[in-house]
Amino acid sequence: MATEYGGYMGKVLRINLTTREVDEYPFSDRERELFIGGKTMAAKILSDHFKGTEQPFSDENMMVITTGPMTGSGAPSSSRFNISTLSPLTGYVTSSNCGGNFGYYLKKAGLDALIVQGHCEKPTWLEINSGKVIFHEADDFWGMKTGATQEALDEKMKLPNGRVRKNGKICIGPAGENQVLYASVVSNERVAGRGGVGAVMGWMRLKAICASGNKEISVKEKEKMVAHTQKWFKYLRKHPLTGEQLPKLGTAGLVSSMQMKGLLSTKNYSEGHFDDFELISGERLAEQYNIVNKGCLTCPIRCSRTVEVEGKAVKGPELETLVLLGSGICNNNLEAVLRWNYELDELGMDTISCANTISYAMEANEKGLWDNGLHFSEIDDLSAVMEKIAHKEGIGAELALGSKRLSEKYGGTEFAIHAKGMELAAYEPRKAVGLGLGYAVSNRGGCHLNGGYAVILEGLGLSVNPTTYHGKADMTMLMQNLMEMISASGQCLFTSYAFFPAPLMSHPNSWYTKLVNAVLPYCGGAVRILNKFPEIAAIHLPVFHHTKGFEYVTGMKMPFGRYMRCGERGYNLERELNRRFGVDATKDALPKRLTDVVQDPKDPNSKVPLEKLKQVYYHARGWDDNGLPTKKLLQKLNIEAK
Ligand code: SF4
Repeated sequence: MATEYGGYMGKVLRINLTTREVDEYPFSDRERELFIGGKTMAAKILSDHFKGTEQPFSDENMMVITTGPMTGSGAPSSSRFNISTLSPLTGYVTSSNCGGNFGYYLKKAGLDALIVQGHCEKPTWLEINSGKVIFHEADDFWGMKTGATQEALDEKMKLPNGRVRKNGKICIGPAGENQVLYASVVSNERVAGRGGVGAVMGWMRLKAICASGNKEISVKEKEKMVAHTQKWFKYLRKHPLTGEQLPKLGTAGLVSSMQMKGLLSTKNYSEGHFDDFELISGERLAEQYNIVNKGCLTCPIRCSRTVEVEGKAVKGPELETLVLLGSGICNNNLEAVLRWNYELDELGMDTISCANTISYAMEANEKGLWDNGLHFSEIDDLSAVMEKIAHKEGIGAELALGSKRLSEKYGGTEFAIHAKGMELAAYEPRKAVGLGLGYAVSNRGGCHLNGGYAVILEGLGLSVNPTTYHGKADMTMLMQNLMEMISASGQCLFTSYAFFPAPLMSHPNSWYTKLVNAVLPYCGGAVRILNKFPEIAAIHLPVFHHTKGFEYVTGMKMPFGRYMRCGERGYNLERELNRRFGVDATKDALPKRLTDVVQDPKDPNSKVPLEKLKQVYYHARGWDDNGLPTKKLLQKLNIEAK
């Protein structure tokens, strides 16, 4: 539906793969004001359809691909798009966010979002050119890895003059085709990795989507936005996290700090330190393997690395992959991690879930529960194992199910490291208990980002006491709401790092940083007031450029308080949606290894006091004792319950 706001293309297209019908899906300006874009817009669309009886691999499921109003606006790190669907891994709604250029080209094609339903008789790829949808057979591509698929698509997009029409694409690899429960969707070298979105696309027999067009992405107040963007870029480039650490070392730069703080998941999260951490560190990666830094469109941070694998320049690993395929399986061979990272992207498989499933299997074997031939630190056959997972052959057919299902079959649920069925990220939460809470309550399962990333306060930015529960629930809620809205608007979550005043990050040993660290756990009450009544912050914060940028692009009033309220709405909407599929307090759980066993025998607090944290968190969110949003809260947030 046409819009009065800038940043939106004013059109959502619905494609039924079974009937090949294409129509416009109504999405009004009132809905844009409330549900913004990205994962929140997707949740609204899914919420209008899902009753809670749908199955991930069925025609009742749908894949909603959304951009945000900031996508392609020229604002920093604004190339993001999102894929939401019912996850085959968790059975709940998942959202998976991705950079690259597909979001930009979807908007250039004239669309804010795509809804894909049904399934194709035969393998298919979709061409979306200026809003027109063309179905193509993909028999030739089926079975191809993601790199070859994208090259083949570029061949198809060649113009009569031999040039490739500018386009953005997403595709799946063999893992998606074979419905590995944690298969990813790949776009250029970027990946929508989590929750098995690639498996849903594979079930639909949809190999790829290619978007192109020349529509203008409008910006309401262009001149003001240009000036604001210049300031914003400058701020990000000067900030110690977004201007130094991430450009210099990428996310891999965190390995050394995680080792120091006991956060480096080692041997399937049984420890927080790895003796050989230097061999898998970001510093070593930068010195010996990094060829060049890369970034998504309009990103000054450029956190991505390019490395060489078998003579080819390819994307380097992120922190999660380095740790979980390094210390996680007691492997210090960095070159092997670089190769696996590339191979997993080529196969179209989430590196986090794959690595954690393998480390679970290694421990199950070590403990005599499952004779599977996998051993910690023995890595020679792992490339072949990954290939088998993608094709569901031999042991791969079992590993393709993820750690939760395997632990239910073979035992060892206490060391199957997942939440709601999705494997945890690389941070060991017993030395960052706020993050432990975040993992447990996160809407999409064991995710550090959807969980609020409290670890940035607990050791990786600030150094607030990592094992106290004081203040953590309220801060987790604040961070979750903030990141929800950044994501909904179409920007990269890494821009949220600059929310923390630079002097605190640059001078960790100064008296003022120490004071902030000491005082923050006792600020839960103040944070709760801000969480409950965000509208009191009817201002733009000098350290947070997102709100003004949002206003200049869209023309919507968006002071900080309203920004936070929109984030809160998005978070609660996903929770309400998941309630229909059975989420309640019992599902906000972590494996016993993290809640019942201390990491450090000398520190009785080095485990996650989850039940205590959950009670405070539910109260802070205004949820009932069963962890569900109350009717009153949903009404206040304009969320319709079913
Ligand atoms: S910070 Fe990294 S992931 Fe985010 S937009 Fe920039 S390059 Fe992409």
